[in-house]
Amino acid sequence: MEGKKRAAHAMLFPFPCSGHINPTLKLAELLHSRGVHVTFVNTDHNHQRLRRPRGREGFRFESVPDGLDDADRAAPDRTVRLYLSLRKTCTAPLVDLARRIGARQRVPPVTCVVISGLVSFALGVAEELRVPSFVLWGTSAVGFVCTLRLRQLVQRGYTPLKDETYLTNGYLDTPIDWIAGMPTVRLGDVSSFVRTLDPTSFALRVEEEEANSCARAQGLILNTFDELESDVLDALGDEFPRVYTIGPLAAAMHRRVDHVAHGLSLWEEDAACMAWLDARPEPRSVLYVSFGSLAVLSPGQLAEFAWGLAASNRPFLWVVRPGLVGGDRGMDALPDGFVAATKNRCFIAEWCAQEQVLRHRAVGGFLTHSGWNSTTESIWAGVPMICAPGFADQYINCRYACAEWGIGLRLDEELRREQVAAHVEELMGGGKKAEEMKRNAAVWKARAEAATGPGGSAYENLDRLVEELRVEGS
Ligand code: UDP
Repeated sequence: MEGKKRAAHAMLFPFPCSGHINPTLKLAELLHSRGVHVTFVNTDHNHQRLRRPRGREGFRFESVPDGLDDADRAAPDRTVRLYLSLRKTCTAPLVDLARRIGARQRVPPVTCVVISGLVSFALGVAEELRVPSFVLWGTSAVGFVCTLRLRQLVQRGYTPLKDETYLTNGYLDTPIDWIAGMPTVRLGDVSSFVRTLDPTSFALRVEEEEANSCARAQGLILNTFDELESDVLDALGDEFPRVYTIGPLAAAMHRRVDHVAHGLSLWEEDAACMAWLDARPEPRSVLYVSFGSLAVLSPGQLAEFAWGLAASNRPFLWVVRPGLVGGDRGMDALPDGFVAATKNRCFIAEWCAQEQVLRHRAVGGFLTHSGWNSTTESIWAGVPMICAPGFADQYINCRYACAEWGIGLRLDEELRREQVAAHVEELMGGGKKAEEMKRNAAVWKARAEAATGPGGSAYENLDRLVEELRVEGS
């Protein structure tokens, strides 16, 4: 690209939860490794929780208040409160912060703002600073397009549902064949937000508004790679001329960032689970089980997973974080007798270094909620999945993992321990279907490696993005 080059300084601000912070931090590291000056902004609350991370040359952490009090943080709808509070209170502190750091000596002024989804108000920060903005939308490309199309699904009368029977009467299997690049999806795959009876559904409106507001940004950054989602990316290009597919971010980081000074995690990682994996003699014999950072199971669902895993007779490493079961409950909610029944072949952790776990030689399968970060990490590790989606884009990720990429087995929505056990046995037992999934997973792993290696699509796209950030007036 023609134009005068300048020192680029990106101010990054993710929505304050793990699923947004983690990929945004990876993007920050990648930009920094390419010579971009980085300011990573957390909320004060997370800044404390992350034990005040220290920056380094050209990479600083800053924080702004999120406007919540203790009662908000303890409330069941705390994520909604957080979303609304950020919108209401954060624009001025972010603008002030950018101006303050830009006025320091030896620090170039902020030249662009990069946000994750759900903080589209911060596009206004970029507008006020008169710098370009980029959105790192944390889902797959198909997940992004589905979220864009929620608006049309409402306009065309697919959702809200007329009554509760529509959740179980086969209506969710209605084919949706008019979304460009995605000819084979069904209504129920699109997003959890179509499963509402509420004509004023807050979540549905917020999601589609947030996705559609990405059109205000100069560019859209996706944690995916071209080969994985080529059809939908081709179609998306008509609407979003500047899409940068630079994922899997975990793989790109591994390839391009020599030294990461901080492992930032809102939870403490249990190192003992790695030693437990090291001690498993058989390669690919362990099933890794995790439902991410936000999913909440009912005690009944937890029991179906637990007894299904117990019945499978396969070794497994299960992340049961505090809060996985309503309130703050976690391990204490496991059914009586479960730990004793599985003690020689099971390790339960509150949180682990998931990327390392998935890439460990002992791990051969992943029972997942199909969050997008987890899905991409599993693809990069070449590990096939059992998918149990329950929220937002997890349904479409599951659909693509199972029906398009051939690396997933789906559990029925009504969870049954017999099916959990049967799927685990099918995946870990090495039958015909498992062998096919393993082969496919190896192919996608190789493609992910190629995309993020020199000359690969994601590698080139990152360089293109960095060049764009350096061009004055972009
Ligand atoms: N994760 C982790 N340790 C765990 C469980 C999860 O580091 O024990 C990380 C995981 O690697 C991923 C993120 O948490 O990067 C979860 O993101 P995802 O999009 O899969 O799900 P969400 O938490 O947003 O529902």
